[in-house]
Amino acid sequence: MFDEILTFIRTINEKDDFIPLHEPVFHGNEKKYLNECIDSGFVSSVGAFVNEFEKAIANYTGAKRAVVVVNGTQALHLACVVAGIQRGDEVITQALSFIATANAISYTGATCVFVDVDKETLGMSPSSLENFLLQHTQLKNGICTNKHTGKQIKACIPMHTFGHPTKIDDIKVICDRHNIILIEDAAESLGSWYKGKHTGRFGTIGVFSFNGNKIITTGGGGALITDDESLADKAKHLSTTAKIPHPWQYEHDAVGYNYRMPNLNAALGLAQLESIQELLNQKRSLFQLYKTFFNRKKIQLIEEPLNCSSNYWLQAIILNNKIERDNFLNYSNENGVMTRPIWSLLNKSTMYKNSFYTTLENSEWLEDRVVNIPSSSKMYKTI
Ligand SMILES: *Cc1c(COP(=O)(O)O)cnc(C)c1O
Repeated sequence: MFDEILTFIRTINEKDDFIPLHEPVFHGNEKKYLNECIDSGFVSSVGAFVNEFEKAIANYTGAKRAVVVVNGTQALHLACVVAGIQRGDEVITQALSFIATANAISYTGATCVFVDVDKETLGMSPSSLENFLLQHTQLKNGICTNKHTGKQIKACIPMHTFGHPTKIDDIKVICDRHNIILIEDAAESLGSWYKGKHTGRFGTIGVFSFNGNKIITTGGGGALITDDESLADKAKHLSTTAKIPHPWQYEHDAVGYNYRMPNLNAALGLAQLESIQELLNQKRSLFQLYKTFFNRKKIQLIEEPLNCSSNYWLQAIILNNKIERDNFLNYSNENGVMTRPIWSLLNKSTMYKNSFYTTLENSEWLEDRVVNIPSSSKMYKTI
């Protein structure tokens, strides 16, 4: 069975040696813009490409504003800071996510609360979120307070796993009802829409990553999007060492960060974003090829949820159990086809093992079974 899967992956792949999980593609204006950027002399923290890329991200997603920074993790951190998350607060996120989600919360001094995910979306389960809030919190003068710790539940950060939109409108309703700020970790979901609205636009702030392995890349980079002009201004200001604009003086009015995206990276990003529709079409075609194959093999392939359009960033299959999964991971990686298990649950890591978590039935089930398979947009041959 495993060898049939590898044979199929090799059949649809342009390469015949090592097949990676995801490769970036550069066949648009990347070199042209990078040359322009170098010729301009503005390769670092100031330059026209930064503003253009910010406008292009805002325009593409439909958000009023975008602020681009050095990576997705710092974008998440900055989102937490401008949303007012502080030491002593609690922030709800999902146990099944990449480590950066929890790390960004921790950088502010807040603690994480982990809830479960849904099996179909792999994203935060609205019912798990609601159950936690009903059982363990109360609203005191409009402040959602944890009954056991006495701390404020300040925010909720769901994540759109592998680009598949989570049930974000239900989550939004629950957050509003409990007076909690919603921030979306949309690091994996640029190009994914939930009921016609781009992911990252349901909460107060949404965050993207442009790391080399993401749907588009700036080398390293991230962005936050928001419809709130004052939050965007604040994010821009804090990412620029909180320097008060002045032709020569150094005056800073807060403990800021040096998080700005360099112009060089923005030049690459602008070119990448121009080609995103073609990338998305290829990702979808690859999914269709996999779907036909895995349907025949009776192996479940993760599909975009109803009424959603997923970017199909990483393709994922669900194997029968942990033993089968481990065997497949060993076999495929030993034979030059890169595969990866989904993340280990965040509440199991040494840093987060003392955090509160709800029952995590679905997360634990998925943790043992989900495997990512090669997903490059350029990999498939029309067969
Ligand atoms: C990639 C990713 C991030 C972090 O992005 P970087 O640009 O690598 O810092 C955060 N959250 C999730 C879910 C991610 O997949």
